[in-house]
Amino acid sequence: MKLDYLAKLDRQILSFEIFPPKHGTALQNIDATLEVLADLKPDFISVTFGAGGSAVNSKTIELASKIKNTYAIEPVVHLTCLNYTKDEIRGIMKELTDNGIENILALRGDVNPDITPKKEFFYASDLIRFVREETGDRFHIFGACYPETHTEAESRAKDIHHLKEKVEAGATHLLSQLFFDNAKYYRFLEDIDVADIHVPIEAGIMPITNKAQIERMLTTCGATLPEKHRRILTRYEDNKEALFDAGLAYAVNQIVDLLTSGVDGIHLYTMNNPRLARRICDAIRNIMAVRG
Ligand code: FAD
Repeated sequence: MKLDYLAKLDRQILSFEIFPPKHGTALQNIDATLEVLADLKPDFISVTFGAGGSAVNSKTIELASKIKNTYAIEPVVHLTCLNYTKDEIRGIMKELTDNGIENILALRGDVNPDITPKKEFFYASDLIRFVREETGDRFHIFGACYPETHTEAESRAKDIHHLKEKVEAGATHLLSQLFFDNAKYYRFLEDIDVADIHVPIEAGIMPITNKAQIERMLTTCGATLPEKHRRILTRYEDNKEALFDAGLAYAVNQIVDLLTSGVDGIHLYTMNNPRLARRICDAIRNIMAVRG
């Protein structure tokens, strides 16, 4: 089912993001995770896609089909374009249709110095335009957005201008990059409102439960870490369980504040960790149930 209807809900949206198991790992191993995630009844589960390399990406589609057919949750397939030709994207779109998948997150993908781009798509908006031209309304198209500005953007204003191009090209729903400072997100919402971008936007939240993870995230995604979160990492970095609890509590606080402020929805980067997703959902269950 296409996820267009989410824009008309009288409640806030909750979605999860997962990644396919690493190369060589069977897809069956993810069932224990999916059982828990499906039981939490998200509005959809999105599945990441490599920036290049078909072996991993066929797993994305296989996993999305499993989410749909075995767990009855609507999947969203991430699709990157920098390292694909138009013909290859046509092939992927056919595979998606053959598997009954109707929702995609259209992305450029990160530049990988080891892979030469195919130079048929340069930006996510090129992919969105192409998918619309080739398939009309067959897919509900999501786009990515960056509350703290994309790391390669010329300026914040230009980044927002290009975000508007994505929406004009046919993206009707946005998922945000992860962030830890809600004030930055609220400022972003104001800026995109001024830019006349009016589609549902979900706030990307990633609970940080180990130190290696945060260092990797901060270098690649450009999110800033508030002092309050930094203190958590410093104090509990050598105590796995304490760090898990503190990182989780920080994320729950962030989510409660966002929901209370009336955001459209929460996109939870689950890191394939069902325990984390369950603890968060338990903490916000009654808040998520509020209508209006
Ligand atoms: P774009 O929207 O194309 O923007 C990229 C840069 O180009 C920005 O700086 C933008 O300002 C600039 N730009 C856009 N249009 C123009 C233009 N016309 N002229 C000049 N500059 C322009 N990566 C993966 O590989 N796999 C995934 O599964 C994945 N999932 C993600 C999920 C979410 C929710 C998010 C937020 C990111 C995800 N990414 C994923 C990362 C993403 O691929 C990178 O952030 C990538 O660097 C940018 O992708 P984009 O689609 O936002 O690019």
